[in-house]
Formats: sequence, structure tokens, C-alpha cells
Amino acid sequence: MPTYHYRCKNCSYDFTAHQSFEDDPITVCPECGQEQVRKIYSAVPIEFKGSGFYRTDGASKSSGK
Ligand SMILES: [Zn+2]
Repeated sequence: MPTYHYRCKNCSYDFTAHQSFEDDPITVCPECGQEQVRKIYSAVPIEFKGSGFYRTDGASKSSGK
């Protein structure tokens, strides 16, 4: 299950949450209760292999886990 990183724009509280792709993103801050939470997309390295484009897209792998 992927881990998402969130940060509250109101109080700067940041946290991670384990969620599946089907889960709704968290919008309410558990710390201050404000609806100011934004998901932070971490920099996932994209590999380029060979001459063509090869993008590692985790969303396409639905089997297992
Ligand atoms: Zn907050």
C-alpha cells in the first residue's frame, strides 16, 4: 500500500498516510481540523531506458500487494 505525504497549509503539520489508490485523499488536518491539507507528491525518479520512453508507472501494476 502506497504511502502519501500530506501537509496542512494552515498549521504546517505534515504527516504520512497509508492509503490505497481507491481511497479519497485526506483534506482535513488531524492537528487543527482545518480543510487545508494538500497532498505532497514526492519526487519519484523516472527512469529512461534504451532509446524509447519507459515510464515506471506504479498505477498500472494492480496485481499483488
Ligand atoms: Zn493543520
